[in-house]
Amino acid sequence: MTETQTAIVTGGARGIGLAIARRLAHGGLRVAIADLDYATAQQEVAALHARGEEALAVQADVTRPESVQAMVDAVIKAWGQLDVLVNNAGIAGRSAPIQDLSLEEWQQVIDVDLTGVFLCCRAAVRAMLPRRYGRIVNIASIAGKEGNPNLGPYSSAKAGVIGLTKSLGKELAQSGILVNAVAPAVIETEILRQVSEETVQYMVGRIPMGRVGQPEEVAELVAWLASPACSFSTGAVYDISGGRATY
Ligand code: NDP
Repeated sequence: MTETQTAIVTGGARGIGLAIARRLAHGGLRVAIADLDYATAQQEVAALHARGEEALAVQADVTRPESVQAMVDAVIKAWGQLDVLVNNAGIAGRSAPIQDLSLEEWQQVIDVDLTGVFLCCRAAVRAMLPRRYGRIVNIASIAGKEGNPNLGPYSSAKAGVIGLTKSLGKELAQSGILVNAVAPAVIETEILRQVSEETVQYMVGRIPMGRVGQPEEVAELVAWLASPACSFSTGAVYDISGGRATY
Protein backbone atom coordinates (compact mmCIF):
# COMPACT_ATOMS: atom_id res chain seq x y z
CA MET A 1 0.00 0.00 0.00
CA THR A 2 2.18 2.85 -1.15
CA GLU A 3 -0.37 4.99 -2.98
CA THR A 4 -2.56 7.50 -1.14
CA GLN A 5 -5.60 5.75 0.22
CA THR A 6 -9.16 6.88 -0.39
CA ALA A 7 -12.21 6.77 1.86
CA ILE A 8 -15.94 7.35 1.79
CA VAL A 9 -17.66 8.49 4.98
CA THR A 10 -21.45 8.38 4.72
CA GLY A 11 -23.32 10.96 6.75
CA GLY A 12 -19.98 12.75 6.90
CA ALA A 13 -21.27 16.33 6.91
CA ARG A 14 -21.71 16.55 10.67
CA GLY A 15 -21.46 14.78 14.00
CA ILE A 16 -19.49 11.55 14.29
CA GLY A 17 -19.14 11.25 10.49
CA LEU A 18 -17.55 14.69 10.22
CA ALA A 19 -15.09 13.90 13.01
CA ILE A 20 -14.18 10.66 11.19
CA ALA A 21 -13.80 12.44 7.84
CA ARG A 22 -11.52 15.07 9.41
CA ARG A 23 -9.46 12.43 11.24
CA LEU A 24 -8.94 10.36 8.09
CA ALA A 25 -8.07 13.45 6.02
CA HIS A 26 -5.62 14.66 8.69
CA GLY A 27 -4.13 11.15 8.54
CA GLY A 28 -3.37 11.62 4.84
CA LEU A 29 -6.31 9.88 3.17
CA ARG A 30 -8.37 11.33 0.34
CA VAL A 31 -11.85 11.56 1.83
CA ALA A 32 -15.27 11.74 0.20
CA ILE A 33 -17.88 13.27 2.47
CA ALA A 34 -21.12 11.65 1.30
CA ASP A 35 -24.29 13.08 2.76
CA LEU A 36 -27.89 13.98 2.03
CA ASP A 37 -26.90 17.52 2.99
CA TYR A 38 -24.69 18.42 0.02
CA ALA A 39 -24.26 22.11 0.93
CA THR A 40 -22.78 21.29 4.34
CA ALA A 41 -20.63 18.52 2.83
CA GLN A 42 -19.23 21.10 0.37
CA GLN A 43 -18.47 23.56 3.19
CA GLU A 44 -16.60 20.90 5.14
CA VAL A 45 -14.67 19.83 2.03
CA ALA A 46 -13.67 23.47 1.47
CA ALA A 47 -12.37 23.58 5.05
CA LEU A 48 -10.27 20.44 4.43
CA HIS A 49 -8.95 21.90 1.15
CA ALA A 50 -7.91 25.01 3.08
CA ARG A 51 -5.68 22.76 5.21
CA GLY A 52 -4.14 21.28 2.07
CA GLU A 53 -6.05 18.01 2.40
CA GLU A 54 -7.76 16.13 -0.45
CA ALA A 55 -11.51 15.77 -0.17
CA LEU A 56 -14.64 15.50 -2.25
CA ALA A 57 -18.29 16.27 -1.49
CA VAL A 58 -20.83 13.77 -2.79
CA GLN A 59 -24.58 14.04 -2.49
CA ALA A 60 -25.78 10.60 -1.47
CA ASP A 61 -28.88 8.96 -0.07
CA VAL A 62 -27.79 5.62 1.36
CA THR A 63 -31.33 4.21 1.00
CA ARG A 64 -31.25 4.46 -2.81
CA PRO A 65 -29.14 1.91 -4.74
CA GLU A 66 -28.50 4.24 -7.70
CA SER A 67 -27.37 7.03 -5.39
CA VAL A 68 -25.01 4.66 -3.56
CA GLN A 69 -23.54 3.42 -6.85
CA ALA A 70 -23.07 7.03 -8.03
CA MET A 71 -21.22 7.76 -4.76
CA VAL A 72 -18.74 4.92 -5.32
CA ASP A 73 -18.40 5.83 -9.02
CA ALA A 74 -17.59 9.45 -8.11
CA VAL A 75 -14.69 8.32 -5.90
CA ILE A 76 -13.34 5.89 -8.49
CA LYS A 77 -13.60 8.60 -11.15
CA ALA A 78 -11.80 11.17 -8.99
CA TRP A 79 -9.13 8.98 -7.41
CA GLY A 80 -9.12 5.64 -9.24
CA GLN A 81 -9.70 3.39 -6.24
CA LEU A 82 -11.69 2.87 -3.05
CA ASP A 83 -9.85 1.65 0.04
CA VAL A 84 -12.09 2.56 2.96
CA LEU A 85 -15.85 2.76 3.53
CA VAL A 86 -17.24 4.09 6.80
CA ASN A 87 -20.96 3.40 7.08
CA ASN A 88 -21.90 6.18 9.45
CA ALA A 89 -25.15 7.71 8.08
CA GLY A 90 -27.96 7.00 10.47
CA ILE A 91 -31.09 8.27 12.14
CA ALA A 92 -32.45 7.51 15.60
CA GLY A 93 -36.14 7.80 14.81
CA ARG A 94 -38.72 8.96 17.31
CA SER A 95 -38.61 7.62 20.88
CA ALA A 96 -41.90 5.78 21.30
CA PRO A 97 -43.33 2.60 22.79
CA ILE A 98 -44.08 -0.08 20.22
CA GLN A 99 -47.86 0.34 20.47
CA ASP A 100 -47.53 3.93 19.22
CA LEU A 101 -45.16 3.24 16.30
CA SER A 102 -46.38 3.33 12.72
CA LEU A 103 -45.06 0.93 10.09
CA GLU A 104 -43.66 3.95 8.22
CA GLU A 105 -41.63 5.01 11.28
CA TRP A 106 -40.25 1.48 11.64
CA GLN A 107 -39.47 1.23 7.93
CA GLN A 108 -37.72 4.61 7.72
CA VAL A 109 -35.19 3.71 10.43
CA ILE A 110 -34.58 0.23 9.00
CA ASP A 111 -34.12 1.74 5.51
CA VAL A 112 -31.43 4.22 6.55
CA ASP A 113 -29.69 2.35 9.37
CA LEU A 114 -29.68 -1.21 8.02
CA THR A 115 -30.60 -1.33 4.32
CA GLY A 116 -28.32 1.67 3.74
CA VAL A 117 -25.39 -0.24 5.24
CA PHE A 118 -26.17 -3.25 3.04
CA LEU A 119 -26.31 -1.12 -0.12
CA CYS A 120 -23.07 0.73 0.66
CA CYS A 121 -21.22 -2.48 1.61
CA ARG A 122 -22.38 -4.17 -1.59
CA ALA A 123 -21.25 -1.33 -3.84
CA ALA A 124 -17.93 -0.92 -2.00
CA VAL A 125 -17.12 -4.64 -1.98
CA ARG A 126 -17.68 -4.81 -5.73
CA ALA A 127 -15.14 -1.99 -6.14
CA MET A 128 -12.67 -3.40 -3.60
CA LEU A 129 -12.60 -7.09 -4.56
CA PRO A 130 -10.48 -6.72 -7.74
CA ARG A 131 -7.72 -4.96 -5.76
CA ARG A 132 -7.95 -7.45 -2.88
CA TYR A 133 -7.86 -4.68 -0.31
CA GLY A 134 -10.47 -2.82 1.71
CA ARG A 135 -11.45 -1.68 5.17
CA ILE A 136 -15.15 -1.31 6.00
CA VAL A 137 -16.16 0.17 9.33
CA ASN A 138 -19.83 0.12 10.30
CA ILE A 139 -21.08 2.49 12.99
CA ALA A 140 -23.46 0.33 15.01
CA SER A 141 -24.53 1.22 18.56
CA ILE A 142 -24.67 -0.16 22.07
CA ALA A 143 -28.43 -0.15 21.37
CA GLY A 144 -27.82 -3.02 18.95
CA LYS A 145 -26.19 -5.12 21.68
CA GLU A 146 -28.31 -4.28 24.69
CA GLY A 147 -31.48 -2.67 23.27
CA ASN A 148 -32.74 0.70 24.45
CA PRO A 149 -36.40 0.98 25.51
CA ASN A 150 -38.56 3.14 23.25
CA LEU A 151 -36.00 2.84 20.46
CA GLY A 152 -37.20 -0.44 18.98
CA PRO A 153 -36.56 0.29 15.29
CA TYR A 154 -33.13 1.79 16.03
CA SER A 155 -32.06 -1.04 18.36
CA SER A 156 -33.24 -3.60 15.79
CA ALA A 157 -31.47 -1.90 12.88
CA LYS A 158 -28.21 -1.63 14.82
CA ALA A 159 -28.43 -5.31 15.87
CA GLY A 160 -28.82 -6.01 12.16
CA VAL A 161 -25.68 -4.01 11.39
CA ILE A 162 -23.79 -6.11 13.93
CA GLY A 163 -25.09 -9.31 12.29
CA LEU A 164 -24.16 -8.08 8.82
CA THR A 165 -20.68 -7.13 10.04
CA LYS A 166 -20.10 -10.60 11.49
CA SER A 167 -21.42 -12.26 8.34
CA LEU A 168 -19.31 -10.17 5.95
CA GLY A 169 -16.24 -10.51 8.15
CA LYS A 170 -16.32 -14.27 7.64
CA GLU A 171 -17.48 -14.14 4.01
CA LEU A 172 -14.65 -11.79 3.03
CA ALA A 173 -11.98 -13.02 5.43
CA GLN A 174 -9.64 -14.18 2.67
CA SER A 175 -10.37 -11.35 0.25
CA GLY A 176 -8.20 -8.64 1.82
CA ILE A 177 -11.35 -6.75 2.80
CA LEU A 178 -11.83 -6.46 6.57
CA VAL A 179 -15.24 -5.55 7.97
CA ASN A 180 -15.61 -4.36 11.55
CA ALA A 181 -18.12 -2.37 13.57
CA VAL A 182 -17.98 0.03 16.47
CA ALA A 183 -20.70 0.25 19.09
CA PRO A 184 -20.77 3.68 20.74
CA ALA A 185 -22.89 4.65 23.72
CA VAL A 186 -24.17 8.24 23.85
CA ILE A 187 -22.03 10.60 21.78
CA GLU A 188 -22.66 14.35 21.86
CA THR A 189 -24.18 15.16 18.45
CA GLU A 190 -27.37 16.54 16.94
CA ILE A 191 -28.89 13.05 16.63
CA LEU A 192 -29.80 13.31 20.31
CA ARG A 193 -32.41 15.95 19.40
CA GLN A 194 -34.47 13.18 17.76
CA VAL A 195 -34.64 11.31 21.07
CA SER A 196 -36.66 12.28 24.15
CA GLU A 197 -34.85 13.78 27.15
CA GLU A 198 -36.01 10.77 29.20
CA THR A 199 -34.34 8.35 26.77
CA VAL A 200 -31.09 10.38 26.79
CA GLN A 201 -31.07 10.36 30.61
CA TYR A 202 -31.63 6.58 30.57
CA MET A 203 -28.66 6.09 28.23
CA VAL A 204 -26.26 8.46 30.02
CA GLY A 205 -27.24 6.96 33.39
CA ARG A 206 -25.91 3.60 32.25
CA ILE A 207 -22.41 4.86 31.37
CA PRO A 208 -19.99 4.06 34.26
CA MET A 209 -17.72 6.96 33.26
CA GLY A 210 -20.74 9.23 33.92
CA ARG A 211 -20.37 11.33 30.78
CA VAL A 212 -21.24 11.37 27.11
CA GLY A 213 -18.56 10.61 24.52
CA GLN A 214 -17.20 13.02 21.93
CA PRO A 215 -17.22 12.40 18.16
CA GLU A 216 -13.42 12.72 18.07
CA GLU A 217 -13.09 9.80 20.49
CA VAL A 218 -15.04 7.57 18.08
CA ALA A 219 -12.99 8.88 15.15
CA GLU A 220 -9.73 7.69 16.75
CA LEU A 221 -10.99 4.10 16.96
CA VAL A 222 -12.41 4.21 13.43
CA ALA A 223 -9.12 5.58 12.06
CA TRP A 224 -7.30 2.50 13.31
CA LEU A 225 -9.94 0.08 12.04
CA ALA A 226 -9.77 1.83 8.64
CA SER A 227 -6.01 1.53 8.39
CA PRO A 228 -3.65 -1.21 7.14
CA ALA A 229 -2.43 -1.42 10.77
CA CYS A 230 -5.67 -3.25 11.53
CA SER A 231 -4.78 -6.56 9.91
CA PHE A 232 -5.96 -9.51 12.03
CA SER A 233 -9.43 -8.36 13.09
CA THR A 234 -12.58 -8.82 11.05
CA GLY A 235 -16.24 -9.37 11.82
CA ALA A 236 -15.63 -7.79 15.22
CA VAL A 237 -17.57 -5.21 17.22
CA TYR A 238 -15.49 -2.67 19.13
CA ASP A 239 -16.93 -1.11 22.24
CA ILE A 240 -16.73 2.66 22.78
CA SER A 241 -19.18 3.16 25.61
CA GLY A 242 -17.40 4.56 28.65
CA GLY A 243 -17.64 1.13 30.23
CA ARG A 244 -21.38 0.51 29.62
CA ALA A 245 -21.01 -2.62 27.50
CA THR A 246 -20.94 -5.86 29.43
CA TYR A 247 -19.92 -8.02 26.46
P1 NDP B 1 -26.10 13.11 13.15
O1 NDP B 1 -27.58 13.18 13.09
O2 NDP B 1 -25.36 14.22 13.83
O3 NDP B 1 -25.49 12.94 11.67
C1 NDP B 1 -25.99 11.99 10.80
C2 NDP B 1 -25.66 12.39 9.39
O4 NDP B 1 -26.16 11.36 8.52
C3 NDP B 1 -26.31 13.70 8.97
O5 NDP B 1 -25.38 14.51 8.27
C4 NDP B 1 -27.44 13.23 8.07
O6 NDP B 1 -27.79 14.15 7.03
C5 NDP B 1 -26.84 11.99 7.44
N1 NDP B 1 -27.88 11.14 6.88
C6 NDP B 1 -29.08 10.79 7.41
N2 NDP B 1 -29.77 10.01 6.58
C7 NDP B 1 -28.99 9.86 5.48
C8 NDP B 1 -29.16 9.17 4.26
N3 NDP B 1 -30.29 8.49 3.97
N4 NDP B 1 -28.15 9.20 3.35
C9 NDP B 1 -27.02 9.90 3.60
N5 NDP B 1 -26.81 10.58 4.73
C10 NDP B 1 -27.78 10.57 5.66
O7 NDP B 1 -25.76 11.70 13.82
P2 NDP B 1 -24.49 11.16 14.65
O8 NDP B 1 -23.25 11.78 14.16
O9 NDP B 1 -24.81 11.22 16.09
O10 NDP B 1 -24.56 9.62 14.26
C11 NDP B 1 -23.70 9.03 13.29
C12 NDP B 1 -23.84 7.52 13.40
O11 NDP B 1 -23.46 7.12 14.71
C13 NDP B 1 -25.28 7.01 13.21
O12 NDP B 1 -25.25 5.79 12.49
C14 NDP B 1 -25.76 6.78 14.62
O13 NDP B 1 -26.78 5.82 14.69
C15 NDP B 1 -24.48 6.30 15.27
N6 NDP B 1 -24.46 6.41 16.72
C16 NDP B 1 -24.62 7.65 17.31
C17 NDP B 1 -24.64 7.74 18.68
C18 NDP B 1 -24.84 9.05 19.37
O14 NDP B 1 -25.12 9.03 20.58
N7 NDP B 1 -24.70 10.19 18.72
C19 NDP B 1 -24.48 6.56 19.54
C20 NDP B 1 -24.30 5.33 18.80
C21 NDP B 1 -24.29 5.28 17.45
P3 NDP B 1 -28.98 15.21 7.24
O15 NDP B 1 -28.46 16.20 8.19
O16 NDP B 1 -29.21 15.80 5.89
O17 NDP B 1 -30.14 14.42 7.75
